[in-house]
Amino acid sequence: MRPKDPLLQFTDKGIYCEKGGFFIDPWRPVDKALITHGHADHARWGMKNYLSTPITEAIMKYRIGADINSESIGFNHKKRINGVHVSFFPAGHIPGSAQILVEDTSQRWVVSGDYKVIEDSISEPFELVKCDYFITESTFGLPVYRWRTDEEIFGELNQWISENIENKINSVILGYSLGKAQRLLQGIDNSFLPVYCHGAVYNMNEVLAAAGMDLNDYKPITRDTPKDELKGRVIIAPPSVLGTPWLRKLKPYKTAMASGWMTLRGARRRRNADKGIILSDHVDWPGLNATVKAVEAEHIYVTHGYSDIYVQYLREQGIDADVVKSEYEGETDTE
Ligand SMILES: [Zn+2]
Ligand SMILES: [Zn+2]
Repeated sequence: MRPKDPLLQFTDKGIYCEKGGFFIDPWRPVDKALITHGHADHARWGMKNYLSTPITEAIMKYRIGADINSESIGFNHKKRINGVHVSFFPAGHIPGSAQILVEDTSQRWVVSGDYKVIEDSISEPFELVKCDYFITESTFGLPVYRWRTDEEIFGELNQWISENIENKINSVILGYSLGKAQRLLQGIDNSFLPVYCHGAVYNMNEVLAAAGMDLNDYKPITRDTPKDELKGRVIIAPPSVLGTPWLRKLKPYKTAMASGWMTLRGARRRRNADKGIILSDHVDWPGLNATVKAVEAEHIYVTHGYSDIYVQYLREQGIDADVVKSEYEGETDTE
């Protein structure tokens, strides 16, 4: 059942807590914003005050500006804001990503942000938080989306790389520069290190390393990198390099595109990569359903992704649910 006097409301600026006087991941400038994680559709420019985990704060200072007015809070700490309590719990999505619990004496709300329940090598593992009202993403909320373990995924990827090395071909792996790129870096067999990185990936690695993350050996590709240094190497770059002169300089190479969307053959073709790696930062179909049940909420609110279809499905299972319109973008491949 929906609450009569909801602690969180859905407004045209984003998820709003009137009692606390703050928004969560707003998409328009507001005074006080609690931010679940550093991806650009959740951590936006123009807020007077930001509150997030320390790693997300470091990412925002790099992406939005070093001079933003921000505060950080560790996982599992409670903070009182105007009569409500807020706390951040690991969302397992990317480094620093959080679900935000907002509670007062009568209601507990969890805003999932983006999340993933299977563990990877870089994100703090997802923690289930029971609540009365759960706001979940549904980026991959269809039965076709089921992820394999990192062990299986990287076993196959490392095999592909070693074949390329035998043939003195560069292995260019394409993944979003925040999250995906570091997960790729950590999953690559140690004998293939150092990994060479595109500037966007290199800079993000530097931000995360400065924030305390222990990453595998990586090097930037710069104008001065000698061409014969790049033979039979592993290179990580954002998908936007496909079809650019930057990529052509790495010849001979093969490309592999890492994304949850690689599940669908059509997406693989459109991307023009030699290989698709199904690797996602978002919860898959079984994980989504398990989580929605396990939080034991009275009502589920579903945002980005297949929200209409998923709400329909939940109602058929006897679970109260509504679609919530938002301006979040799901899994981005475009940077
Ligand atoms: Zn995200
Ligand atoms: Zn998102």
